[in-house]
Amino acid sequence: MTEPSIPFLDLRKTTRSFEPELTSAIQAVVASGSYIRGKQVSEFEEAYVAYTGCRHCVGVGNGFDALRLIFRAWLELGVLRSGDEIIVPANTYIASILPVTENALIPVFVEPNEATFNIDAKEIEKKITPRTRAILIVHLYGRNAMNDDIQALARKHGLKIVEDNAQAAGCWWAGRRTGSLGHAAAHSFFPTKNLGALGDGGAVTTDDGELANTVRALGNYGSAQKGHNELRGANSRLDELQAAVLNVKLPRLDRDNQRRRDIAKHYLANIHNPSVQLPQQPNSEEEHVWHLFVVRTQQRDQLQHHLLEAGIATLVHYPVPPHHQPAFKHMNDMRFPATENIHGEVLSLPLHPLLEDSEIARIIEATSAFRYAR
Ligand SMILES: *Cc1c(COP(=O)(O)O)cnc(C)c1O
Repeated sequence: MTEPSIPFLDLRKTTRSFEPELTSAIQAVVASGSYIRGKQVSEFEEAYVAYTGCRHCVGVGNGFDALRLIFRAWLELGVLRSGDEIIVPANTYIASILPVTENALIPVFVEPNEATFNIDAKEIEKKITPRTRAILIVHLYGRNAMNDDIQALARKHGLKIVEDNAQAAGCWWAGRRTGSLGHAAAHSFFPTKNLGALGDGGAVTTDDGELANTVRALGNYGSAQKGHNELRGANSRLDELQAAVLNVKLPRLDRDNQRRRDIAKHYLANIHNPSVQLPQQPNSEEEHVWHLFVVRTQQRDQLQHHLLEAGIATLVHYPVPPHHQPAFKHMNDMRFPATENIHGEVLSLPLHPLLEDSEIARIIEATSAFRYAR
């Protein structure tokens, strides 16, 4: 089959849309001779502090490390002890869960609210035990996962809230950005994310200065002061070149997210198909940045094939839930029916800020025209 004429995402096109600023910014770093923890990284950290409204931002190597180092720092600071339980969404990408198990913490899965795909606050309390120390919320597909119930539960039980904000850069809840809603947040700048670098990148944001300092030291061989290694750290730093790229891209993030919202609104108003369930618009528009536009259907594979025939590439986010992955063999017998049904039925349609109106029209038309023929 020939390449679909509407790719899921064309990163060449995205990158071109930031030229010539992107290439000049990269050339300036090349000429600067400063390639690690230089001026671009500190400039980005300051800009992201201002953008998210958090007190501290620490650039790290990627989104996975951001989450991993938050938990590791709390272990170092005595906030967590190995074997502690962390409430996590069952319905997420495995990169949300591995940082928990990597730190010898126990992930305790909670089913999603099927209207939002996000962790169901009503199911959380049943899973809280004397060993529970934190709730990890994932703003899946770019939709805010925070709500009053989660905040009240965390307060009542003295739990930390960690946000996995990898998919929701620029999103809001109750007048604040996601990434500033809990005690710490992990951000990913993987190229396909709403704020994407030209390689790996990540950040931790928090209002807690001690946590920020510990994360920064842990990402620099455990050293806060040159020559002194107080912790057994690792190497995970935001790269100077990637920071320069992010400094060019961050100022356009809000506009790009608004375009995503407009396209989502268009899909929601114009895709009509009784066998395709559309995602639910949150009460307030700012609570979604539409990293992914995910529809549900019992004929997922057929819909994907139908769209491909119409020249439209789609992806499945995600085909296998974490608890059914071979990597978590000891969890494979667990059953989370809502999560498992979602994984069997979801399909992501192309949605990105550079999608053309004609492409949007074709995606609407082809999705509406899908009929399941046995
Ligand atoms: C992308 C992603 C991550 C990991 O980010 P990387 O920068 O690729 O390590 C973690 N959680 C979620 C939900 C993601 O989408």
